Amino acid sequence: MSRVYPPTAKWHEMERAGIIPQAGNAEEYTVGGWRNEHPVRDNECCIDCLFCWIYCPDNAVNIKDESVKYQGFSADHCKGCHICAAVCPKDCITMVPGGEFSPDEPGQSEEE
Ligand code: SF4
Ligand code: SF4
Repeated sequence: MSRVYPPTAKWHEMERAGIIPQAGNAEEYTVGGWRNEHPVRDNECCIDCLFCWIYCPDNAVNIKDESVKYQGFSADHCKGCHICAAVCPKDCITMVPGGEFSPDEPGQSEEE
């Protein structure tokens, strides 16, 4: 049975070992507070292949629905795992220290 835990869930209300059995639930959880590094994308270098979007485990790469183009990272959902930087075929994504996204950095988006 699909079950999404509320942020206030106690350990004894969860599955053994904290397992989350249902797939595709990343949007239900806010993990941005875990981040101590964040991704920055070089806009000039990006070819919009969307590998970063495909591989991000937390649905933290935003795209424009109508054009399926990269739009930015989600501050609520990006946990700073480096996967997007690792899979980018053009090395357009750099992980930089600090958990805060800055609107002054290239490749960022305020949209969730
Ligand atoms: S670092 Fe990249 S792959 Fe990891 S959660 Fe953030 S956007 Fe997704
Ligand atoms: S993986 Fe790299 S090149 Fe592809 S869309 Fe993401 S940032 Fe752009």
